[in-house]
Amino acid sequence: MDEYISKIRSGDLKLYALEKSLPADDAVSLRRKYIEEETGADLSAVGTYTIPIDRVVTRNIENMIGCVQIPLGVAGPLTVKGEYANGSFWLPLATTEGALVASINRGCSAITKAGGTEVRILRDGMTRAPIFAAKSVAHAAEVARWAEDNLLLLKVAAEETTNHGELIGLTTYTAGTSVFIRFEFDTKDAMGMNMATIASEAAAHLIEEETKAKLIAVSGNMCCDKKPSAINIIEGRGKTVSAGVFLSDELVSMVFKTNSATLAEVNTRKNLTGSARAASFGFNAQAANVVAAMFIACGQDPAHVVEGSNAITTVDLVEGGVYVSVTLPSLQVGTIGGGTSIATQNACLSTLGVAGGAENPGDNAKAFAEIVASGVLAGELSLLGALGAQHLGKAHRELGRGEK
Ligand code: NAP
Repeated sequence: MDEYISKIRSGDLKLYALEKSLPADDAVSLRRKYIEEETGADLSAVGTYTIPIDRVVTRNIENMIGCVQIPLGVAGPLTVKGEYANGSFWLPLATTEGALVASINRGCSAITKAGGTEVRILRDGMTRAPIFAAKSVAHAAEVARWAEDNLLLLKVAAEETTNHGELIGLTTYTAGTSVFIRFEFDTKDAMGMNMATIASEAAAHLIEEETKAKLIAVSGNMCCDKKPSAINIIEGRGKTVSAGVFLSDELVSMVFKTNSATLAEVNTRKNLTGSARAASFGFNAQAANVVAAMFIACGQDPAHVVEGSNAITTVDLVEGGVYVSVTLPSLQVGTIGGGTSIATQNACLSTLGVAGGAENPGDNAKAFAEIVASGVLAGELSLLGALGAQHLGKAHRELGRGEK
């Protein structure tokens, strides 16, 4: 080991290239030792892990030194009545936020007592938007028109790069001489960002050849990946999902110790008026909490919490109770690819029955999206209920306080 460390120090061996000369576990432990020596930190805690890392070091991470462990809890059972997920589910939630799992659990209990969530996927398409430089505004308009008129040719070019992905549409936008072509793909069970990027590159080269516009970058930020944006909220990105449930006045009072009118008023004044006054994109109470905890547990790209937590929560006062809903316009999820095959993450997807590719490709990712949206609804209900009953401070005093 010392011999390798001296070679790293002398520059004869690159720290990132250890896997080329050593088995993965040895490379990781040597790199950890080197970083311990460099920083003086004791890293033994990150050196204990159970996941097989042979594939991880080639597909999921570079310069690996170990694993950070995040506690995993469950909330449920949650009854979901979707078109792809139908049944009773235990939600895997990876978090260090005390009180979060308890909160979602309470929402699950209310929903399950009410008979379950109705969930629908309203649209499905992963986007990638290359940016081209045209010579003039007239040329920019020509480029945009050519792309719009030649979807079929672009589809053939794009789909040569993938067995599962399908180019299902495109929208063009221009700004002076800049032309953005926002491609939209059905990526089946994959979240699809790599798949869409590779396929978009092929389509973009065809546009470049045919129009003589210069391809500047395969992503021109109108995709819009991992940034807060109105376009994803209005047009959707990934899956657009709505989940709703009717709760009777009795159920609201029994589970949340408040009443339907209070639940509706808290939602209107907080989630709608408050968010509007703050010019927030998040018209919800805690969608990001559920999305982040489920994404981390289930091997999703955690940076997609930025768009995945765009959500609008509504509470309609109806006869005998309330109809509560969440709509997530841009939920990007997959059950194959990315981090989904890592053993611990795959186990979490398995608890939901959605690990891997579905027999009918796309059905597992859709089922997973329906379950996540239902979990978000549980979180919304619980927090609105706690606020309505003025219980939030109490819950956080009892659970989830830091060191005293
Ligand atoms: P991926 O791991 O790159 O690819 C998924 C693979 O699964 C594809 O090769 C596909 O093959 C295959 N596949 C097998 N069965 C499938 C099924 N039933 N449905 C769909 N695909 C199936 O995953 P990805 O979802 O495209 O990309 C996810 C990764 O992209 C994450 O790690 C994320 O962090 C990363 N990411 C990349 C970018 C970027 O710009 N490149 C941006 C954000 C995030 P075929 O394609 O041959 O069908």
